[in-house]
Order: sequence, then structure tokens, then C-alpha cells
Amino acid sequence: MAIDEHPGTDSSAAPAECRRARAALGAFVAGGLGEAQLRSLRQHTLGCPECAIEFRQDVELAARIARERRLERERRERELRRSERLRQARGALFGPRSMLLRTVFVPGLLIFMLSRAFPLGGGARVYALEGSYSLGVRTLDAEDRPQVVRRGEWIVTPADASAKLERKDRGAVRIAGSSMICAEDRELERLLLHAGSIEIDGPTLVTTPFGTVEVLEGSALLALERDALLVEVRSGRARVLNAFGQRLLAAGGTASLTSTGL
Ligand SMILES: [Zn+2]
Repeated sequence: MAIDEHPGTDSSAAPAECRRARAALGAFVAGGLGEAQLRSLRQHTLGCPECAIEFRQDVELAARIARERRLERERRERELRRSERLRQARGALFGPRSMLLRTVFVPGLLIFMLSRAFPLGGGARVYALEGSYSLGVRTLDAEDRPQVVRRGEWIVTPADASAKLERKDRGAVRIAGSSMICAEDRELERLLLHAGSIEIDGPTLVTTPFGTVEVLEGSALLALERDALLVEVRSGRARVLNAFGQRLLAAGGTASLTSTGL
């Protein structure tokens, strides 16, 4: 029985060679065709235009499927990378090893707890030595805890009282008798002496109605009288300054600042 070599696209009516070729095409599209099988398939399509058309269509289909698979894979990889970046970002912000946690929250909490445990903090505190003193509108005595002094707050001691100001990273200030001082900053590095006398230990700038005293190092005694400021340097050195000039005083040196001279 003679067999038509080119029976059309109906594979059931195709000769055995074409049926094998069509089966190989199916395997090719599915991606499961070896090198030798592919070669014999190509060989057949060279002599069989019907299968050649099928082959070309299937090659195009296979290429389209492969392209779609690749695009899908790339899309999934992009999504995976994106969710991984998000996960890392969330971990960096809030995770147990987070930079934000290590650099902001934990140190902040520690500073807060330390400031609660040690109210001195970066500023200074005052407490009564004898009698009672006033800090702003409050009256306090030896029964009270040391108080944090705020910038602009007045500390007043009556005639029979004295108080001590402890400062961070510098010496103390003692205020006694009928005296009034004001904190110009919260470290009490700068003071206003309005009345009475203070004993200063450590670098301090004191402003008075008769002039300014800058204790550079060591300690000094300042007494504000009705018409003069008396300064006595006990150790180290201090600089006194008013509208009439300035002087540097060494240990043991004294000065009298008035409204008419130095
Ligand atoms: Zn064929």
C-alpha cells in the first residue's frame, strides 16, 4: 500500500515518520527533547513542509512559553527581593539588633533612667547647711533633698542661714548670711551676686552691681557691701573687671570694686 508522504496536518492520517516527528515536537515544546532527537526532527522537517510548518509554529510557541516562564520567574525574584529588603528594613528599625534601637532608644532610656537616679544630671543642686534657704518661691531646709537649680532661679539665705551649691565638673559655691544669688545657667558656671557673700571653688563668672569677677582657678571669697564689692583670692587666680579697668589677682590678692573705681 502506497503511503502519501505529505498527508496534511492531521497526524492520525500521517505516515509513521511524520507521527514520530509530531510526537518529538510535543516533547520539544515540553522541553524534553535530547540533542540527537532534535537533530533527527530537523532532518525530517527539511524534507517535509507540513511538519516544517508545525515545527516552526511549535518553536515559536516554545519560545513564547519560555519567555513567559522567564518573565514570571523574574517577577517572582523581584517580589522576593523586595519583601526581603522590607523585612531587613523592618529588622533594622525594630529588630533586636536594630541600629535605631542601639543608637537611639536604648541610650535614650539609659540617659532617662540615669537622670532619674541622679537628679544632678548636667546641672547643679543646692542644699541647706544651716537654717532654711529659698529656691525660687520654695523655702527649704536640711530635711529637704538637694534641689536642682534651674536657670534664672534665685537662691536666698537669711541672716542665720547658709547653703551649698554642688556643681558638676567644678567646685562648690557656698552662700551665707543675708545673701541673694541667681543662676545664669543650669551648670551654675555664671552667677549673679545681688546681695551678701559667696565663697567660690572652681572656675566661675560672677556679675555684681560693681563689676565682674572671673575665678579662673582655685577659690575666692566675694562680699557685696552697700557701696563696694570686696574680693579675696584664697588660692589660684581670679580676674576682676569693671568700667574703670581690670586686674588679675593671684592667691592672697584682694580688690575692692566700687561705682567710682577699681
Ligand atoms: Zn512530516
